[in-house]
Amino acid sequence: MLKTVVLERGIPGGELLNTEKVEDYPGFISILGPDLAAKMTEHAQAFGADIRMENVEGIHRLSDGSFRVVTSTEAEYLAPTVILTAGGTPTKLGVPGELEYAGKGVSYCAVCDGAFFKGERLAVIGGGDAAVEEADYLTRYASRVFLIHRRDEFRASKLLQERAFQNPKIEVIWNTRVLELAGTPAGLKHLDLENTVTGARSQLEVSGCFIFIGFKPNSWLVRDHVAHDASGYLMTDDRMMTSIPGLFAAGDLRAQLTRQVTTAVGDATTAAIAVEKYLADRKSRVTAGAA
Ligand code: NAP
Repeated sequence: MLKTVVLERGIPGGELLNTEKVEDYPGFISILGPDLAAKMTEHAQAFGADIRMENVEGIHRLSDGSFRVVTSTEAEYLAPTVILTAGGTPTKLGVPGELEYAGKGVSYCAVCDGAFFKGERLAVIGGGDAAVEEADYLTRYASRVFLIHRRDEFRASKLLQERAFQNPKIEVIWNTRVLELAGTPAGLKHLDLENTVTGARSQLEVSGCFIFIGFKPNSWLVRDHVAHDASGYLMTDDRMMTSIPGLFAAGDLRAQLTRQVTTAVGDATTAAIAVEKYLADRKSRVTAGAA
């Protein structure tokens, strides 16, 4: 029964929109990420959430402890509490050629760009869930996928690893880092690689390179004022409240062990209930003060 406005800069769904299949969300043996996002949006709207497509540019705490949220349309929202769920942005590899070939072979989204590489050779960089899962997905289109990891073991879940190991189109290249992405003005042609153990250099011919090496939390909006860890993830208590009373955080931008859709939903459930209690306490404090 609270009045809730959801400010979202794009189509609601965040990282779910960059995820092909979700197979660990209770109630669905398998569902496409964008389909789950659409169902969640519809569900929230059915319960009265007012979803507006706006880019948040600032969150200011007012002297009475409430917040003023400013967006790029220069709209202002006043709210007694804010729950931050801004997620994260893919980390860049930071090597020569990465920016130059972005959109010309370099991608951070397999679902978005995989189909452009039918019958071609692709590289996937990383060793976490995203890299291993997306390498498997990309074999639908690619003739061969080289999964390049800087160490000799993946940090991805065993289930995803097994699937990748059993996929005949995937070749894992261990202990290897990318030095440079190179090509012609038309697009990416090859990667310059270095073995991290022997130092041996090599070239790998590919027309696409998908980079999945983690992501950075979108916590910059509040990071200067709110307690966070060394990587910028916001610290919260067990109610999901940050170091600022009334400011909550849920999902990928919160410091925690895992970043899954299930944990994000759990965080958000806790935050919503905690907000309700916070507002009730605030109201009783104000009433007691007035009496
Ligand atoms: P991640 O778990 O942080 O893994 C990042 C991977 O990239 C690691 O293997 C890391 O290597 C490697 N890496 C980092 N910086 C690198 C660099 N500069 N050069 C080369 N390699 C580098 O990130 P993620 O895979 O994006 O996953 C993020 C979160 O989302 C995780 O919590 C994950 O569980 C979750 N997620 C879950 C699913 C799923 O369950 N289906 C799918 C996608 C993501 P090291 O191992 O050597 O550190």
